Amino acid sequence: MDGLANELEALNRASSVRRLLDSASIPDRPGYILRGNRALLDLCSNDYLGLARHSAIAEAMRDSLLTEGAGAGASRYVTGNFPSYGLLEKALAEWQNREAALVFANGYMANVGVIGALASRGDVVFSDRFNHASIVDGIAISRTEHARYRHNDMEHLRFLLNKYRDKRRKLIVTDAVFSMDGDRARLTELVALKMEYGAMLMVDEAHSGGIYGQRGEGLGHELGLENDVDIHMGTFSKSFGVYGAYVCGSNTLIRWLVNKARPLMYSTALPPSVVAGIAKSLELVRTEHWRRERLSAASRVFRSSLIEAGFNVGSDDTPIVPLLVGDNDRALRFSIALEEEGIAAVAIRPPTVPAGTARIRFTLSASHTVNELKEAAARIRGIGLRLGVSDSCNGS
Ligand code: PMP
Repeated sequence: MDGLANELEALNRASSVRRLLDSASIPDRPGYILRGNRALLDLCSNDYLGLARHSAIAEAMRDSLLTEGAGAGASRYVTGNFPSYGLLEKALAEWQNREAALVFANGYMANVGVIGALASRGDVVFSDRFNHASIVDGIAISRTEHARYRHNDMEHLRFLLNKYRDKRRKLIVTDAVFSMDGDRARLTELVALKMEYGAMLMVDEAHSGGIYGQRGEGLGHELGLENDVDIHMGTFSKSFGVYGAYVCGSNTLIRWLVNKARPLMYSTALPPSVVAGIAKSLELVRTEHWRRERLSAASRVFRSSLIEAGFNVGSDDTPIVPLLVGDNDRALRFSIALEEEGIAAVAIRPPTVPAGTARIRFTLSASHTVNELKEAAARIRGIGLRLGVSDSCNGS
């Protein structure tokens, strides 16, 4: 334990130590969190559509708790496969216009489970360098070859596809919207490459599900590519405001996962109340298009205000707005100053992002008003001036 304590101290000196911060929800103030006794504008949760405190979802969960109980009691292979699971999966497949769907306990387990089921020794997984940690961990656990391509660099991917063209199974995996940079994957080009090289394509729609597409199906749908994506994965913990994850695709894919995905096989089914909450949330995600419109307006206003204030906020227009700071210590001081100004947003530091690209990651929600965001941007500008952070002092 002494060794661990010393290493933690070294992390602390490098402004890289992580702490768990207390935050509580405020029932009548969507878009805010309570820290200590202060209400902070919440610019860091992934509750993109403002559904996490929706009363209809909470009521569906409460009703299920009272009738079905607190826990599933076993995995879905034993006695945990209550009827609402099948109904939800049918609704998900219909929503996505795919043959079948499968619910997982969360996005992390879905990624680890799917990649572990589809790739093993003798195969290769091509993965964008900025993909989420759950994808990286899924590849490591599967013991497959990991061919990491430079972020959104299709020429590098092509080079690697050529290099590994003789491998048994080839899987290309990408986030649809990258979680720390907020930019979009080049899905059209990925589809062309997967066809050319006979690979499978898996897209993680964690940060795009609910946001893009007429009914919130995701970026693949928005681009008309839904039938070209072999494995569509999404979470219920972000836009849906609940918890859990899903995979959609062909009947064969889902039957394969039921037989091979270890996180599904060796873990207890989600509590029935969570499944009930997801089902209610799905109805709202599909039909309440105004939430997507509000989110998109909020993102545009916030991003353009920060650009006007002279910050580097990345290149793409999504609800994830990274404010590049550069060094760890300054990013940490920036997030502390934000909290003092009534804004909750965390400093993201290596190893989550590459060295020298520490940042404040802002995420927006349909709960935020344009005025709140303009005011927040003005306060952020003041902090940037005080700390000497501007577009000219950090990388891309
Ligand atoms: N994929 C991506 C791109 C994510 O950002 C996350 C969550 N941060 C996950 C998967 C994991 O999802 P969950 O939180 O449901 O485990």
